[in-house]
This record gives sequence, C-alpha cells and structure tokens, in this order.
Amino acid sequence: MTDPAPPGPIWAETDLDAIRHNARLLMEKARPDEAVAVVKANAYGHGAAPVARALGGVGVRRFAVARLDEAVTLRKAGVDGPLLVFAAPLDGELAAYERHGLTAAVSSPEVAAAVAERGGLTVHVKVDTGMHRLGFAPEAAADAVRRLQAAPGVTVEALWTHLATADGDDAAFALEQVRRFDGVLRDLGDAAPPLVHVRNGPAVVRLPPLTSRPALARLGGVLYGLASDPAMHAAMRGLRPALRLVSRVVHVQTVAAGESVSYGRTWTAERPTRVATLAAGYADGVPRALSNRGEVGLGGRRFPVAGRVCMDLLLVDLGAPDGPGGAVARGDEAVVFGRGGPSAEEAAAAAGTMAYELTCGLAARVPRVFRGQNAG
Ligand SMILES: *Cc1c(COP(=O)(O)O)cnc(C)c1O
Repeated sequence: MTDPAPPGPIWAETDLDAIRHNARLLMEKARPDEAVAVVKANAYGHGAAPVARALGGVGVRRFAVARLDEAVTLRKAGVDGPLLVFAAPLDGELAAYERHGLTAAVSSPEVAAAVAERGGLTVHVKVDTGMHRLGFAPEAAADAVRRLQAAPGVTVEALWTHLATADGDDAAFALEQVRRFDGVLRDLGDAAPPLVHVRNGPAVVRLPPLTSRPALARLGGVLYGLASDPAMHAAMRGLRPALRLVSRVVHVQTVAAGESVSYGRTWTAERPTRVATLAAGYADGVPRALSNRGEVGLGGRRFPVAGRVCMDLLLVDLGAPDGPGGAVARGDEAVVFGRGGPSAEEAAAAAGTMAYELTCGLAARVPRVFRGQNAG
C-alpha cells in the first residue's frame, strides 16, 4: 500500500523498499556481526516506527535509539525485542528503562552504581577508547563490568565503544581505538560479556570485522542510503537513498531586470526572469545556508535557489521566460532533496553540512508519506 502524493504544499516521502534493500545488503556485509538498526532521531528523519516495522520484516531483530523517550515511543508503536538506548541515563530515568525492557548504556561509575543499586536491568558497558564523549576509561572498564556482573538482577550483555574516524581517512586511529578496546577484553578474560560492538555504519562499509567474538554492528545512516562523508559516498555503491523532501510551486512570476527577491535583496534579476515560490523554508528544515547556493529539481531539471531562504518559503530562479523553466506552473512538484532533485549529500554540501543533519532536521510540521510494500 502506498499513499498518493498529498495535495498539500510540502511533504517528506520515505521509500521503505529502499531501506529494506539497504538493510539486506548491509546485514550481508556486516557478517558475522549481527545488525542493530539505529533508528534515533525519528530514524534520521525517515519515520522511526514505520522504518522499524519495515526492518523487522527483513529480519532485523535489534534496534537502538539515542534517548529514553525515543525508545518509549517505539515500544508504544509495538516495536519489541532488544532496544538499546545510547544515552547516559539520568537516575530518574532508570525505572522507565526497566518498565519498558530497554537496554541501558552504562558509561560512568555513577551510572554503574545507580544500576547496581536498583537491579532489574540489562546493560551494555561503554568504553571510551578515544572519542572522549561517553564511556569508562579503558583502565576502569574491566572493574566496572565485574562489579555490575556481581550486582543482583543486572545482566551485562555487551561491552562496546564508538569510533571517531570510521568514515574518514584516519583508519589508523580507528585501529588504535580497537587496540584499546581489546585491552579491556584481555583484562576481563573469561568474564568478558557475551557480546561486543564497535562498528557503526561507516565502519561496516570501510573496515573489516574487528573481532572474532560474537559482535553487533550499529547501522545508522547507511540504512537510509546516506553518506556521512564524501569518502563514504564512494564506498556505498548499491545503497539507495530513501528520503525525498518535496514541495509544490505555490506562485510563479516574471521578475523585471533590476528587481530583487526575498529578504535583504541578495539576488537581483539581470534580465526578465521567471521565479517560482515554493512552500518550503527553514521552519521545515531547509537550511537557510542554501540561500543563493542550493538547487531544486523541477520537471527533471535543476534550478538555483534565488535569494534568502525564508521561514516558510523559498524562491527559485527558473531562467528566461521562454527557456525550459518557463513551463513551470503553480502546483508543480519541486524536489528540495532526493530522487528528482539534488541528493541529500549535494544539498548538504551546498549548505556546508552533512546529509544526516539535513534529514534529521526535517521539522515536525512536514507531513510524512511512506512508499513501498506494507507502507501506511
Ligand atoms: C548514531 C550512532 C551510530 C550510528 O552511526 P552511523 O554513522 O549513522 O552509522 C552508532 N553508534 C552510536 C553510539 C551512535 O550514536
């Protein structure tokens, strides 16, 4: 089941078949690691619950999110099975972890003490091997694992860490992080938890399995066909982008030579120019940095953004009234990013950011449409 194109002026369209295709490919590639689908931030803007259901249909059993609230929302949407929350839990949140059967990340002695005191939780102990964001120092991690293992009602299912340079060219630092992680496992010996996880999506694409132990791979952006980095983009052949941000032309005019458009008068027509107004703005998640820099797709062609992106609207330079853009009419579909327009990576580059930020930044007011088998 697939929804028809909405009549409204803007929508975001998620292709669930593309995500399923990517998941199948990546589960194969990640082997022998088991895939954990990272569906934080509303599945990078793609719609967490429909995405999780679609992934469940191709055999993904484990999920991860960034925050407790995201996990509770997924549970309420019927997503059961192992669900890891990456965040460092606050003491007031632990009861909800237990109530919803969530896996807690333990990243500090304070959290370990709170978990040990209440019991009733499955945890993944995080080691800070060089990202210096969350996690136990390598020399403190083994002791923390042993203490948690001794706490009544606590199950230490995994030891894990996060790489700082998996998507870039600094593979040497990734391997240094792995070396530090292996040191903790050596300290633990037979007390090592049954699972480990190190690789995120870029690491699965660019690095081999990093351990002979039973491992998980945390797949994020790659599931959605998003490249975190130009080097990644080249390595991602076969993965399909899944999101399109589509807006409609709500007004078309010919702007006279010498007249400017939008706030601040940063774009001026050099000759009589057709200009389309789209119902898409920074309050929808279109970066204002695309002002005079981005492009949109209209009828299979690309046209530049003219002047400043506004809160609710943006303007497009269609060129000469008798040129190919002259046929653009009110109601036409314009692609801000995705199939039929610039890729999320191209739009992100024009805005000076990365594709993830673009898709994660889609505003709640943008209606959602799901395409593909079992959509809706
Ligand atoms: C977001 C996140 C991931 C997924 O990363 P991608 O680069 O999108 O594959 C994996 N692990 C952690 C801890 C994360 O926060």
